[in-house]
Amino acid sequence: MADHQSTTPDGNTPDGNITEGNDSGVSNKELKKQRRRTPPPDPEPLAPLIDSHTHLAACGGRDADSVTAILDHAESVGVRAVVTVADDMVDARWAVAAAQWDQRAYAAVALHPTHAHELDDAAKAELEQMLTDPRVVAVGETGLDYYWPGRSDDCATVPQQHEAFAWHIDLAKRVGKPLMIHNREADRDLLDVLAREGSPDTVIMHCFSGDEQIAAECIERGYLLSFAGTVSFKNSTTLQAAAKLVPDHLLLIETDAPFLTPHPYRGQPNQSYVLPYTARALAEVRGQDAAEVAEAITANAARAYGLDT
Ligand SMILES: [Zn+2]
Ligand SMILES: [Zn+2]
Repeated sequence: MADHQSTTPDGNTPDGNITEGNDSGVSNKELKKQRRRTPPPDPEPLAPLIDSHTHLAACGGRDADSVTAILDHAESVGVRAVVTVADDMVDARWAVAAAQWDQRAYAAVALHPTHAHELDDAAKAELEQMLTDPRVVAVGETGLDYYWPGRSDDCATVPQQHEAFAWHIDLAKRVGKPLMIHNREADRDLLDVLAREGSPDTVIMHCFSGDEQIAAECIERGYLLSFAGTVSFKNSTTLQAAAKLVPDHLLLIETDAPFLTPHPYRGQPNQSYVLPYTARALAEVRGQDAAEVAEAITANAARAYGLDT
C-alpha cells in the first residue's frame, strides 16, 4: 500500500553507508535504488516462528495466489503463521479477506493513529462487525504517533488520535481480543492513556522502541513486547538493553514488513521470510539459543492471539 508507505513507516531509513567503496561509476542514488529493489537472501531456516505483525498487502499481496506465495516462502524457512495488520478501512477489508484465503494468515483490524480522523460511526460499526470473525485475532494497529502530525497533511491530530485510541481500547475489551499498539515518539502519553482507560487483558507493544524504563513498565503491566528488525541495528543499543529485560513469556517478534528490514539488509525489501534473521539477532542480544527464543515466541503468539496453529 503506497499510502502506508508514505505515511506510516515505523522509521525505516536505509543505511547511508552502503555506497562506500563505490568506484564503479554508478551513482550513489542509483545504488540505493537497486538496494531497495533487491530482496535479502533466504535465511537459514529457524522453526517454529510466527510473524506477529506484518502488512501482506504492502508486501505485494494482491489475491489468494500472491498471498499464498508469500506464505509458502515464509514457511520454507520456518515461519508458520503471520498476523497481517490493517491501517485504514480499505486495508482492513483486504486483511479480513486474506485471512480467509490462506489458513496461515490471520488479520488484525483498526484505524492506524495517523488515520484516526477517519473513525466515523460507519467505520466503528464495520470494525466491530469484522472482529466477530474468528480469523480476525486482534484490534490493531492503534495507539499514538507523534512523528507524523505536522509532517504529513492528511495525518490525524494528536487529540483525534487520543480519542480514537480510547475507542479502540474499549473495543478490545468488549470483543475480548488483544490490543495491538503502535507507538511512535509517544511513550509516556501512551502508557498514561492505557492506565487511565484500563488495559485489556492482552496488550501487544508492536515494534517496541522504548528504553529500559519503558520496557520495565510494560513488563510490570504484563504487556507483550514485540521486537522488529530494529533490534538488530548496530546503533540500537538502548533498544537492545530493553530487549534483555523481557521475560521469555512476554516476548514476541515481527517483521512489520515491508519496513524495518534487519541488519545487514537494512534498506532492502522486507517480508515474513526474513524473520529468522531478527529472531537470531534477538537471541544473540539476550544471550539465548535461537531455538529457545523461537519456541518461546511461537508459544506466546499462539496464546496471545488464540491461534489454532
Ligand atoms: Zn506500527
Ligand atoms: Zn505496522
